[in-house]
Amino acid sequence: MNARLIDGKAIAQQVREEIRVEVEAWVAGGGAQPGLATVLVGDDPASAVYVGGKQKASAEVGIEGFRYDLAATATEQEVVDLLQELNHDDRVSGILLQLPTPAHISGSRLTTLIDAGKDVDGLTPVSAGLLAKGLPGLRPCTPAGVMELLRRHDVVLEGAEAVVVGRSDLVGKPVAQLLLAENATVTICHSRTRDLPAVCRRADVLVAAVGRPEMVKGDWIKPGATVIDVGINRTDAGLVGDVELRSAAEVAGLITPVPGGVGPMTIAMLLGNTLEAARAAAASRA
Ligand code: NAP
Repeated sequence: MNARLIDGKAIAQQVREEIRVEVEAWVAGGGAQPGLATVLVGDDPASAVYVGGKQKASAEVGIEGFRYDLAATATEQEVVDLLQELNHDDRVSGILLQLPTPAHISGSRLTTLIDAGKDVDGLTPVSAGLLAKGLPGLRPCTPAGVMELLRRHDVVLEGAEAVVVGRSDLVGKPVAQLLLAENATVTICHSRTRDLPAVCRRADVLVAAVGRPEMVKGDWIKPGATVIDVGINRTDAGLVGDVELRSAAEVAGLITPVPGGVGPMTIAMLLGNTLEAARAAAASRA
């Protein structure tokens, strides 16, 4: 293997510790304790595990948790009422509606009801608009995590060729916008892109967010490139990314493994967003 591995687990732990210290200082300085409200509808076991992980991580850094677990039979109106109540609750700095919601509830519509100042997932149209305009706002957690990994490894973005494979609202588009904001020259690829391997080979920084196990091969990668694999795919062989790590690591200069790369960063960035939301709320009340 030629590439250095990016240890997302260690970096996420470092970020979490930094946030813990910042929360402590914020509260010691008279700031209100940040609070994170999670809203889970239904009994999907994976979603329950994710919510539990977010609440536990919040508690560890001194963020107060407000957990709302609604039955699968909850109506859309009940969720609307709860989100509105949380929008007005000063103890709650951030609101997270765990997706996906059960079929009878439109998660994407309900997400739009979250106050942009409390949108710690960074997924509301207002947050997306602020990002598109390059204005301050809460950024989606996984894309923010990708940028943090690049930053902590001093990856040069200014003038670099960045290629993002995937154009979802959750990952691809926001990652591309964040890279653009750092003055990279950004190409966004998707399922209709012609000669994807050739486009990927141009990349100094390649971000794969596709959801196809090991699609990106070593011979798609420019020698020495930085490769960030956002993919999480469960296969018979275990958890794998969108990049074939073995062949890619022969060519890349720096690469994230799966698991242990981008994945652990998402919760860390959520905690950072919650603290940022608490600070912004205090500033707007002052
Ligand atoms: P998504 O909404 O399904 O989007 C996938 C994107 O990949 C789409 O833009 C699609 O293009 C593109 N695509 C699909 N097949 C392709 C192909 N053969 N060639 C080129 N592009 C192709 O997925 P997502 O939510 O962005 O997630 C992507 C991956 O990241 C998944 O594995 C997911 O599990 C993972 N993920 C990880 C984290 C984390 O680490 N915490 C967070 C979120 C997501 P079209 O738009 O043309 O259909």
